[in-house]
Amino acid sequence: METLENIKTRVYKFGNKSADGDSTMKNLLGGKGANLAEMSKIGIPVPPGFTITTDVCTEYNLLGEEAVVNLLTNEVEASIDTIEKSMGAKFGDKENPLLVSVRSGARVSMPGMMDTVLNIGLNDEVVIGLANKTKNERFAWDSYRRFIQMYGGVVLGMKPEYKEDIDPFEEIIEALKHKRTIELDTDFTIQDLKDLVYDFKEAVKKRTSHDFPTNPWEQLWGAIIAVFNSWNGDRAVYYRNMHGYPADWGTAVNVQAMVYGNMGNNSGTGVCFTRDAGTGENVFNGEYLINAQGEDVVAGVRTPQQITKLGSERWAVLAKVEEDERAEKYPSLEELMPTIYNELNGYQEKLEKHYRDMQDMEFTMQDGKLWILQTRNGKRTGFAMVKIAMDLLKEGTINEKEALLRIEPNKLDELLHPIFDPKALKSANVIAQGLPASPGAATGKIVFFADEANKYKNSILVRIETSPEDLEGMNIAKGILTARGGMTSHAAVVARGMGKCCVSGAGALKINYKNRTLTVDGHEYHDGDWISLNGSTGNIIEGKVATTEPELSGEFAEIMELTDKYATMQVRTNADSPNDAKIARNFGAQGIGLTRTEHMFFEVDRIKAMREMILSDTVKGRKEALKDLLPMQRDDFEGIFEAMAGLPVTVRLLDPPLHEFVPHQLATQKDLADDMHISLEAVKSKVAELEEFNPMLGHRGCRLGITYPEITEMQARAIIEAALNLKEKGIEAKPEIMVPLIGTLAEFENQEKIIRETAKQIFEERNDSIEFLVGTMIEIPRAALLADKIAQSADFFSFGTNDLTQMTFGYSRDDAGKFLPIYIEKGILKVDPFEVLDQEGVGQLVKMGTERGRSIKPDLKVGICGEHGGEPSSVEFCYQTGMNYVSCSPYRVPIARLASAQAAIKDSL
Ligand code: ADP
Ligand code: MG
Ligand code: MG
Repeated sequence: METLENIKTRVYKFGNKSADGDSTMKNLLGGKGANLAEMSKIGIPVPPGFTITTDVCTEYNLLGEEAVVNLLTNEVEASIDTIEKSMGAKFGDKENPLLVSVRSGARVSMPGMMDTVLNIGLNDEVVIGLANKTKNERFAWDSYRRFIQMYGGVVLGMKPEYKEDIDPFEEIIEALKHKRTIELDTDFTIQDLKDLVYDFKEAVKKRTSHDFPTNPWEQLWGAIIAVFNSWNGDRAVYYRNMHGYPADWGTAVNVQAMVYGNMGNNSGTGVCFTRDAGTGENVFNGEYLINAQGEDVVAGVRTPQQITKLGSERWAVLAKVEEDERAEKYPSLEELMPTIYNELNGYQEKLEKHYRDMQDMEFTMQDGKLWILQTRNGKRTGFAMVKIAMDLLKEGTINEKEALLRIEPNKLDELLHPIFDPKALKSANVIAQGLPASPGAATGKIVFFADEANKYKNSILVRIETSPEDLEGMNIAKGILTARGGMTSHAAVVARGMGKCCVSGAGALKINYKNRTLTVDGHEYHDGDWISLNGSTGNIIEGKVATTEPELSGEFAEIMELTDKYATMQVRTNADSPNDAKIARNFGAQGIGLTRTEHMFFEVDRIKAMREMILSDTVKGRKEALKDLLPMQRDDFEGIFEAMAGLPVTVRLLDPPLHEFVPHQLATQKDLADDMHISLEAVKSKVAELEEFNPMLGHRGCRLGITYPEITEMQARAIIEAALNLKEKGIEAKPEIMVPLIGTLAEFENQEKIIRETAKQIFEERNDSIEFLVGTMIEIPRAALLADKIAQSADFFSFGTNDLTQMTFGYSRDDAGKFLPIYIEKGILKVDPFEVLDQEGVGQLVKMGTERGRSIKPDLKVGICGEHGGEPSSVEFCYQTGMNYVSCSPYRVPIARLASAQAAIKDSL
């Protein structure tokens, strides 16, 4: 064991056009580390460094700090030695010091979720050495104050204590700026920076009761351990849970030679994207700052400048900056440093070609030399995801299958959200303009703090700027608005990743956290006031703006068309009304997999007849009431069949317990009694009689049709007559009548007989006929077990996985909310089985039911109509099971179509 532990490689080096790792090793080296290695190998200038593997993070969580430092010491010291040789400087040296950064990096990028510390290796003596060596005292002290600030925050826990507070170091900076009446950190004198260092160290001492660590090696290990710890920090845990990333992945740690963007006016730092992450447009874009370091651009300490001239001009229009002022005060990198710009442009082209996807890069210019610090497949909105995949396909970079696999099914959801009604927008009162950081339409009430985002059903989070702590609130809010920060600010990047509407950098907004007010042009808005954001134009609008349905068009339509080429399993929809059916058909549904008939009975004019039916004690009385319901139900079916002309429509017979239909409030009970000319007591006693201990396992489903055959008869008649009526109009209807909650063959045959006899009778009455099927839901475990018996009579199966999950787990769907969240938190269940099909357990019944059914009828049509039919991983499972179709709600149809195509493509690879 001992020797094995020692043989294992825990550290991988990169730099000088070579590397131990490469981009395929993301699981071990994290995304950042793997790509630093890859860039190094393909000749991109990356500061040399090394990556401590994600395995070590897991070891750290098991063995603790001391053991892991022991395991790592030899390799880390040897690797620092390699960096020293390559950079010609020495870590901790007082004359020729090397400084390093310690950077987190999990296998998937989690922007801002974990920690990074820059300028490690500085102390009161080294700073003087650095100043002498670079002949740049200002730079040396600026680096030192930044180091204490970052190390203090990340490693020593110097964070704000209350949400209204600002960062303790920022507070000191603000106070000094105020005293010196300056606005920008670049205006500090050398003495100011020295004072800041002194004050920072005092603050650390006061708050932690310890001196700031002066030993570079102690600093280095402190930062490495802090990065490991950040994997289990609140922010990272929340982000992981949000995306379903397991805790045992761990983070890698990258230690890398510092390059300095804060050396003066020939230095700087920036962020860039090979395409537009918001819209997908194929234009190189990004932001930079001169004489700045690390996160300055993202944190919005100064107004960042655009990289390209085109971007700069577009920005100026939005920021209402005149061309003269733009060119003088905010020139693009392309104009200001054309040589560096050309080099950067070359790298961005090379990297996008190499990775065959849109890249998000970080760079630093040190005294005229360009270094690339990071590249990754850029996070993007749903819109951009679709456009970029289609563009890369058209450019010939990727093929059709790859284009389809590039689309994250759930992210299509963003394209299916309502958009602002163009008519309503015309009369909207635009109060200010920011940058269109993440497209979409958002309307909600103003909140000023992330932890208050759930105060209203629809909230808009309004901040001066956002920070990683705000993640949860940003996710809850409908939209995000910031006064500071550019297109690559934290708010913008995170919002695009979430597909959330965001307007950033709206400089005209004055936000006061203490009073909870937003002031624009002398007009004050308060917590709880409605505002609307247009993430595509950057407009900030007073009040609510009406929205309309989105459409399948442009690249979205193209990618959907492509799914049809590869998908073999069809997608139907669950729809109870002609309107739902139409929406779903526009989204490409190939039929209806579930029409619930009970919803139709809840409408005002019908509920009365339904109640009369339920309340009557005689068959005759029930038949009378059903006679009233028949024409209404028939109309409903005609509407739905017409909307789905030529496509199959599965109609489920009445399913819920009758108790759900009767009135429970005294006033409505009285009305009903009057209407029916019976006593209130009679109504009350009937209601009481219908009450059940376990309604989910009670008198419902086919049990209703078996005890009250006249209900089945009426419904069968409504369906068949509707189809015949349409036939007369020349419209083809293809009804598939579905009997719910079957557990035995005899139950099914009982209902089937009623349906077929009713149909036969109607055909004789009208001297005409249509084709129809009679099948069943498989939603009781016994039905799955005896599927071969049931298939003797049933024309089709549709797995009702909501009930099947409920009955297989024994979890009541209506009560599971009390314990499921705790189960998930404690890791007893990984996900909610009502959302994601439990392939291991419930899945066995689905497989078995399908196999047994098809052993009797090889062509048996099989589908699924539970909520799972629109959940991508469940759709893939249905494909593997050999289902003919999945059925899901109208808005999930595009998602299911894509998931179906992806399942077939993965199968073919
Ligand atoms: P995140 O994962 O949050 O993006 P990073 O590790 O990328 O954090 O680092 C934060 C910032 O510091 C980035 O802007 C990055 O480019 C910069 N940075 C990191 N390491 C160095 C370095 N060795 N030299 C200069 N800048 C660095
Ligand atoms: Mg980064
Ligand atoms: Mg059911």
